[in-house]
Amino acid sequence: MEQPLEPAVIRFSHCQKVIFCFSLPEQCPSCGEELRGSRLQEAPVSLPSPLTSAHKTSCCLLVAPAHDSKDKDVDGMSDLHTGISSTKGVVYNYTRNGVCRDLTGWERCVSVPLVRPDMFHLLAQWDQYLDRFSDGPMWDPAWHRFDEDHHNCFSFCLGFINGVLAMEGRSSLSRETFTHTFILPKMRRVSKYTTLYQHIQRHRFYLVDRQEDTQEDTQEDTDLSRVQFHKDSLDSGH
Ligand SMILES: [Zn+2]
Repeated sequence: MEQPLEPAVIRFSHCQKVIFCFSLPEQCPSCGEELRGSRLQEAPVSLPSPLTSAHKTSCCLLVAPAHDSKDKDVDGMSDLHTGISSTKGVVYNYTRNGVCRDLTGWERCVSVPLVRPDMFHLLAQWDQYLDRFSDGPMWDPAWHRFDEDHHNCFSFCLGFINGVLAMEGRSSLSRETFTHTFILPKMRRVSKYTTLYQHIQRHRFYLVDRQEDTQEDTQEDTDLSRVQFHKDSLDSGH
């Protein structure tokens, strides 16, 4: 799957509006004032897509829309495929045929970093853990059957994460906590970004009042730091 070249979303403010677009227009789409030469309150910023290539990640949980449900809403776990990346961007994911080790195919997904770059002992053993875990009988089709609801790609990821947590002397996470605290907020962000993107494609601009926007923005990356295996973030307070 080739990653299509997509224009970046640009955000700027003018006349108490926040305006999203692909390129800076000559006039403000809200008040019509000439933008060229006039000073904007803040420099326009470009918003990175929440979707990245898993093969450029290291030690992440990956969440991708399932192959056969491109047009469905992502706000639910059933249509998602999940995996874990090795230190070299190989995506380990559990399917009906057992654990796949994918070198391609995960070019557009959400990644949740699981290890802080300075956790050398964990990084050094990550690939070995991942291999050993994947070779377990739980994921061998000869021993255990894949089940859409109860023994699926997500069971594999959560099992692995809980295995690492146990080795680190930490308590395990429930499926519900993990889904609702770490995955769904990210998927809602993807959903929002996609909606925004499609709106701009159709109408060139998306305008909101200034206040509405700021709240959303500050929440964006807070869930990211909380999932990592550090700062006692996983087993406190949830
Ligand atoms: Zn304006």
